[in-house]
Amino acid sequence: MDCIFCEIIKGNIPSTKVYEDEFVTAFNDLNPQMPVHVLIVPKKHIASAYDIEESDAELIGRVFLAAKAIAAKLGLENGFRIINNCGEDAGQTVKHLHFHMLAGKTMGEKII
Ligand code: 5GP
Ligand code: ZN
Repeated sequence: MDCIFCEIIKGNIPSTKVYEDEFVTAFNDLNPQMPVHVLIVPKKHIASAYDIEESDAELIGRVFLAAKAIAAKLGLENGFRIINNCGEDAGQTVKHLHFHMLAGKTMGEKII
């Protein structure tokens, strides 16, 4: 299986880690869209939100606990946004479930 994020998780591709625990890792996006642009990634290979199973429910909760820990670590007191792109229409390019954590300036237009 050829998965960039699995290789990053294994340490075979370098990344700037900002958080790691038993279930989740988080590293800076290579092409940041905001002053803070972190990718929060479950260590288990799940291709997309379509592929989350009942038994992954706790794991997904841990993504948000990681976000809270990252916000504390980076001092993100003014807020942050989390985005998941799932599938073609949403423009998902890396087929390993991940959550974009964006922060560091006031965000303008909202989609929702
Ligand atoms: P998607 O479009 O799938 O929601 O987001 C994929 C994200 O992964 C993009 O924002 C892209 O910049 C980032 N990305 C792709 N390859 C790498 C990589 O090798 N290292 C890091 N740190 N980010 C990557
Ligand atoms: Zn993977």
